[in-house]
Amino acid sequence: MGLGSGEPGYRQCSRAGCTAPAVHAVVWSNPKIHTDGRTKTWLACGEHLEFLTGFLSSRGFPVSAQALEAEAEEV
Ligand SMILES: [Zn+2]
Repeated sequence: MGLGSGEPGYRQCSRAGCTAPAVHAVVWSNPKIHTDGRTKTWLACGEHLEFLTGFLSSRGFPVSAQALEAEAEEV
């Protein structure tokens, strides 16, 4: 038995029409609807990171980006 058959961890860019693998997580919230501290996470490839964060920040939403790890490894 091997680990990682297929690509269960494949994560695709959230930009419409983009099929590139995501390398950044864009964590944001809409203060009007996320009043309990919840956040949303979009995924972005290198090309669209700026687009997605700009889209959100232009609406006044708090947004932060972080690098995606290929394998989530919580400490
Ligand atoms: Zn993309």
